[in-house]
Order: sequence, then C-alpha cells, then structure tokens
Amino acid sequence: QPPVSTSSRRSSMYGYLPTRLLPVAEKKRILVTGGAGFVGSHLVDRLMLMGHEVLVIDNFFTGQKSNLSQWHGHPNFELIRHDVVQPLVVEVDQIYHLACPASPISYQANQVKTIKTNFMGSINMLGLAKRTKARFLLASTSEVYGDPDVHPQPETYNGNVNPVGPRACYDEGKRVAETLTYGYYYQDGVDVRVARIFNTYGPRMHPHDGRVVSNLILQALRGEPLTVFGDGSQTRSFMFIHDLIDGLISLMNAEPPVDVGSLQTPLPRPPQAQNTQAASAADILTDAPDSIIPSEATATTPAVPTALSTSSNAAASDGYFHPDAHRFDVHTPVNLGNPGEFTIMELVQLVQKCVAKVKAQDARPTSASSSSNHSDTIDASASPPRAESEIRFFAMPKDDPKQRRPDITRATSLLDWYPRWKLEDGLEEMTRWYWERIKEGSV
Ligand code: NAD
Ligand code: UDP
Ligand code: UDP
Repeated sequence: QPPVSTSSRRSSMYGYLPTRLLPVAEKKRILVTGGAGFVGSHLVDRLMLMGHEVLVIDNFFTGQKSNLSQWHGHPNFELIRHDVVQPLVVEVDQIYHLACPASPISYQANQVKTIKTNFMGSINMLGLAKRTKARFLLASTSEVYGDPDVHPQPETYNGNVNPVGPRACYDEGKRVAETLTYGYYYQDGVDVRVARIFNTYGPRMHPHDGRVVSNLILQALRGEPLTVFGDGSQTRSFMFIHDLIDGLISLMNAEPPVDVGSLQTPLPRPPQAQNTQAASAADILTDAPDSIIPSEATATTPAVPTALSTSSNAAASDGYFHPDAHRFDVHTPVNLGNPGEFTIMELVQLVQKCVAKVKAQDARPTSASSSSNHSDTIDASASPPRAESEIRFFAMPKDDPKQRRPDITRATSLLDWYPRWKLEDGLEEMTRWYWERIKEGSV
C-alpha cells in the first residue's frame, strides 16, 4: 500500500484546495443527497479534503450550485441534478441522506412534496443502500421531538408532534424516514445511522430561508428592524456547522460496540457529563468550552453521563468509561447539537454585539486603504457602524416549540464528540461571511 500523503499538486494544477491522496482500499465512493445545500456543501468539502470520491445529487430546490463551485471539475467530484423521489442507480459505499428542505418557509411551501421527499426519497436511498450494501446515514432532526414536554431532550423521548399542524410535513416526514431506516435495518440488515440534528447555523445558510440566525444577522447588518416572534422567550440550542460535520462523519464511521472481554485498555472518558446538564446560557456566553469540558479540577470526579449513572458498571472507581457502559449502539438515533440553550432575545443581543464588532473592525482604516486614492470605488466599510437595530415583535407561528436543547450524552459516550464552537465565535464567522457578500452585492 502506498503511504497516505497530502498532495498540493492538484491544487496547483487545477486551483483546488489540496485533497488527501488515499490508498485505494481507504478511498470511499460517497453519495451525499442534498449536497448543494447548507449542511451538505460543508460535508462535501470535508469529505473531498479527506480524499474520498464524492457524488452529489440535488434538485436545487433550496440548494445552490455555487455552494459547490470550489469542486467543479475535480476528478473526485460529481454533481447530478436528480430528485430523490425518483429511483437512482449508482454504485456507492456510503450514503449521507440529507435531501430535504430544512427551514419552515421552504418545507411549508409545498407540504406534499416535503412528505414525498422524506418518504419516497428515503425509501429510494434505503433501497439503493440495500442493493449496494452501502452504509446509510439519515439526517434527521430535533423536530421529531415536536414541542417537547421533556427537557433537555434525550433520544429516548418519543416527542410531542402535532400530526396535522403546519410543521407536520417536516416533523412527521422525518419521523417516517426514521421508521423506514429502522425497517431496512431490522428487515434487510442495512447498516444504518440516524443523526437527530438540532438547530445549526453558519456560512452558506440561504439568506432568504427565514431561519432565525440568518434573519437576525442580515437584518442587523443592513440596519433593518430585527424580527422576533412571540416575546422572544422561547429557547433554542445553536450548533456551528463545523461541529455538526465532525459529528456526522464520526457517526457514519463509528463501528458497533466491541465485545467487552476483547478490550485491553479502558476507553477514554467522555469529555462532558453532568457539566453539560448544568450548562446555562450564561456559562456558554462567557466561556462555552469550559462549561462543556470539565476542567482539571472537576475531572477528579468520574465523568459519567447522567443517563448512564444508574448503571453500576457505567464507570469504575478509576473514573474511566468502561466498554460495558456502551449499551448505546451506533445504530440507535444520536442527538447532535450544542447543549448551550439561549432565548431568542439572548440571541438578538449576541447578534447585535457581533455585527457591531465586525463592522467596527471593517471600518478601521488600514495603512493601505487610508493612503488609497481609488476614490471611484464605493467602500461600504467606510460608513461608521450603525446604532443597534430596533426590535419588532410578531405573533408566534403555530406549533413553534417553546424550548429545545439536546441531551448529548449518547453522542459523547459513543463518538467522543462534543461541540467546540462558542455561539459568539460562530456568529462572528457567519456575520463576516454575510458582510462580505453584502459588500460585493451577492446577498
Ligand atoms: P438546505 O435546504 O440548505 O439543504 C437541503 C438540500 O436538499 C438542498 O440542496 C435542496 O435543494 C435539496 N433537496 C430538497 N429536496 C430534494 C429532493 N426532493 N431531491 C433532491 N434534493 C433535494 O437545508 P440544510 O440546512 O442543509 O439541511 C440539510 C439536512 O439536514 C436536511 O435533511 C435537514 O432536515 C437536516 N437538518 C438541518 C438542520 C439545520 O439546522 N440546518 C437541523 C436539523 C436537520
Ligand atoms: N432503488 C433505487 N436504487 C437502487 C435500488 C433500489 O432507487 O439501486 C429504489 C427502488 O426503485 C425501490 C426502492 O428503492 O422503489 C426500494 O427498494 P427495495 O429493493 O427495498 O424495494 P422493492 O424494489 O422491492 O420495492
Ligand atoms: N424566529 C424569530 N425571528 C425570525 C425567525 C425565527 O424570532 O426572524 C423564531 C422562531 O419563531 C423560533 C426560533 O426563532 O421560535 C427558531 O426559528 P427557526 O426557524 O430558525 O428554527 P426552528 O423553529 O425550526 O427551530
């Protein structure tokens, strides 16, 4: 086997970012449905950089080709316009099934199509997985919990979904997609993974899809009133896109639990545990990673996720996490989300702070720009930062969940995964991304 190496040859030859050169045995053919969308395009970026062959299918309902323009023409990359409601015959090793509009405005625009996408689209992709023996990962959602009356939401909670409300096409669509996934697992032995994704934000979110983070950032950048639905006391947990991509790839590649007796060394202790349960918005506002990862001082207490603490075998006296605690299986649904919980009003404050910071940094004259004599170019950054936008309150949409926050015990113990991005840092990245596009006139 040739050694794994990175190549900068392609990047210089074709102008791509350097992608890894993998030995043939490690290189996978990976299908990403909905790969031209927000989450899909970031996933494609990562899989391409890892050196895999990536096939994207998308009907471009909410996705954009430009999200993937960085890979057009790359020998490892292929993009096909295809609707998952129709059968697809290709040969692949892994399928990330993401195709489905995710924002309430988009998925309610054609409710029947949303249900078809989730139902018929998932059957087709599971049928494809069955034929090709590919591993299949479903991008499910925290919406399967509906308007939850258990808080935070563990995977064992069955949810509180209104089957006839305006969000039902999405919520029930994803629920049936999960049911289908486990049908193919139990009946046909398809190797499946289900990620229940909580609110995710980041660059490339469609500027008009109406989700709260993109709405607020764009409104604040343009000096428009900020729209808050209800009194803004409803809560959400916001995960930055790179954390989600880490979690999706870890889950896809996680293997079923090893035999207890065969393991020689203890598994590493999961990094979060009860601190996550206690993490408040205030903690996360000031210093999120510390509120998630125990410090040296707290690490002397065995870090046992709450859901496991009733099991006498879950943690031995050495504080390590032993394999017999692995009663979660990689085939069970896994929450991926950031356990920091914020009211919408808290989010408004953070967005205003980030927007002011980004505009102020941009307005600061550099030695190059201050001496520039290009007086014919319009420099949007030259205007002084505007005052904070006013807040306008609107009626709460029907069936809008009052609270949402993931219990990520399962993800940390199975995958050793936890979110690393503080909300403030992620918002700043996203604000800068939108600001650049506003200035160039593409948003
Ligand atoms: P998105 O709307 O940006 O991406 C969805 C992609 O699927 C788009 O490119 C769209 O064109 C494509 N698509 C839609 N219907 C299709 C069809 N019938 N055939 C082929 N392609 C189709 O949304 P996103 O935020 O990137 O979400 C991706 C996935 O993650 C979705 O399944 C969504 O339910 C799930 N998810 C996202 C979030 C989040 O906060 N972004 C939260 C929970 C779950
Ligand atoms: N399917 C597909 N690609 C394949 C294999 C199957 O799109 O490579 C579709 C197929 O059209 C079918 C669905 O997946 O509608 C479910 O396939 P399965 O084999 O489970 O069911 P069956 O074909 O027996 O109805
Ligand atoms: N929301 C808001 N202003 C907006 C858009 C959304 O206050 O401009 C609220 C919305 O009512 C919900 C929360 O923000 O309570 C998150 O909405 P989003 O559509 O982003 O995600 P979801 O409701 O699907 O979690």
